[in-house]
Amino acid sequence: MIFDLEKLLSGNRRALAKAITLVESKLDTHRVEAQHILEQVLPHSGNSIRIGITGVPGVGKSTFIEAFGLFLIAQGKRVAVLAVDPSSPIAGGSILGDKTRMEELSRREEAFIRPSPSEGALGGVAQKTRETMLLCEAAGYDVILVETVGVGQSEYQVAGMVDFFMVLMLPGGGDELQGIKKGIMELADALVINKADGDSERLATLTRQQYTSAMNLLRHTSFWTPQVMTCSALKNINIDAVWGMLVDYQIKARQKGAFDAKRAQQNRDWMHQLVNEMLHLKLSQNTEVQQLMPTLEAGVESHRLTAYAAAQQILEKL
Ligand code: GDP
Repeated sequence: MIFDLEKLLSGNRRALAKAITLVESKLDTHRVEAQHILEQVLPHSGNSIRIGITGVPGVGKSTFIEAFGLFLIAQGKRVAVLAVDPSSPIAGGSILGDKTRMEELSRREEAFIRPSPSEGALGGVAQKTRETMLLCEAAGYDVILVETVGVGQSEYQVAGMVDFFMVLMLPGGGDELQGIKKGIMELADALVINKADGDSERLATLTRQQYTSAMNLLRHTSFWTPQVMTCSALKNINIDAVWGMLVDYQIKARQKGAFDAKRAQQNRDWMHQLVNEMLHLKLSQNTEVQQLMPTLEAGVESHRLTAYAAAQQILEKL
């Protein structure tokens, strides 16, 4: 496939979709081509704010992204929405992908919506999303929203690839933390309590007060205290305030040099993760190693060999 890089850089959506298809492909030839494209777009990437959004099914993620995306477009932004869907390889269907979602946003020229890749080779589904993010930035999208469901490991992966990680919550909740794991609260740069409208408005305010106290006990960086806000995605209330908070975060993070530092750290972590996975792959594909393995395992089991010596023998084969 001859790929037109200039088209991608000029913001052509078909060129972008084509590049993403190459990135997501399992074919080795596509993989090589995708890496070539990624190397070329790298100098043109990075000019966006990357925002992770998570929350339990039903909390209003798609409704929020639709409202937020349309608001951003009205501010002159171009918005890409990517999904990391943990359920697709296991359940065979996806939690994020199968509804008719974000109908109005998807019709807009300034929006690009991509469902979760169905599977990932090295680095998993999240790896593809990282690469897709770079392509979207090169194509001129200045806000990237990465959506995931608050189950499994995907929130950790998403938190590790974005500048700002936001957890959507429901009014009420309390002890059970609405099925959201404690660890996720620690990753959050903001909790946004959605559905703060109608009869739920009062409860939402109460919930905000509770979580504000809870969050104050958690992580702080030198420049940012995780914020707790309320909004209504359905009634379009406080959507502008959420963006205001994100602008504030960017200003503060950049002043402290923390914005670029976080991305640099994420890139380092990403590289190390890939090195580990590539080593694993190399080991599993090495026939000498595979032949040697049962003998070494038996040796270690019966105390004839130390685990350290066995590991060394395996690595020597590489
Ligand atoms: P998702 O599973 O997290 O993507 O949630 P959806 O966006 O599909 O929303 C689930 C349901 O909640 C839908 O029926 C929405 O109309 C409703 N919903 C979403 N946001 C709000 C809101 O701000 N207020 C109210 N009252 N309902 C909402």
